[in-house]
Amino acid sequence: MRFQFLLQVVSVFWVASQANAATFEGAWVQGALIIGQAKAGEQVFYQGRELKQSAQGRFALGLGRDAPSRVSVLVKKGEQQETLSFDVRQREYNIQRIEGVKQKHVTPPAELTQRIQQESAAVKAARKRNDNRTDFLSHFIWPAKGPITGVYGSQRFYNGTPKSPHYGVDIAGPTGAKVIAPAAGVVTFANDDLYYSGGTLIVDHGHGVSSTFIHLSKLEVAVGDTVKQGDLIARIGASGRATGPHLDWRMNWFNERLDPQLLFPENSKPELP
Ligand SMILES: [Zn+2]
Repeated sequence: MRFQFLLQVVSVFWVASQANAATFEGAWVQGALIIGQAKAGEQVFYQGRELKQSAQGRFALGLGRDAPSRVSVLVKKGEQQETLSFDVRQREYNIQRIEGVKQKHVTPPAELTQRIQQESAAVKAARKRNDNRTDFLSHFIWPAKGPITGVYGSQRFYNGTPKSPHYGVDIAGPTGAKVIAPAAGVVTFANDDLYYSGGTLIVDHGHGVSSTFIHLSKLEVAVGDTVKQGDLIARIGASGRATGPHLDWRMNWFNERLDPQLLFPENSKPELP
């Protein structure tokens, strides 16, 4: 009896103090980057991972393409803990059929299996980095100019064969056009010839948030370089599995894929400066 009474006191205390619990910015929708603010002494966990906090208690979490309709965030403060639940808006993704891709990019020859697996592992390793930098807190800018020709999440069929979804936003532009850093960061991966993605660059913005740029014709930075927002980092191309020159920009929170378009107001277009 006494123990139960104590529990009640603890939970009443927690409810009274909940106004002080971590707060969040951003719409809870599949593909979204959510920015949070913890109060002093709070630890925040999502998907079993303790979220890195800035000196001011800011943190990031990402909702993947197929995030469930309800997710929870655990907030701990000393001996107290509370689970906060959020409804996640579920999206309907396009189906996109792409014809005219080289058949070797749809069903690669068996002797390339090892190369493709090694490349995939190297890219995933770069996305696992949990850097202290807080560049993800700045407002992102478009990394290239041009019409959007492909959107996040689409289920793709290449020459009729279903393949993994499209995780980036495609911005069409001529080969050689500038790609600039949408936010500051450090270059963690640079390779000018991956099998599927061709010229590939990853810029880490901190706390697991990174940008991937693919199908590049030229890389203008190298691994370890730090870049400021707006710096030239690469040139648009059509390398790898691409049917024409464009920039494919992907956002990641560790290995969850985020929708870059959700970082901008709804009517913001990469045609505009
Ligand atoms: Zn693309």
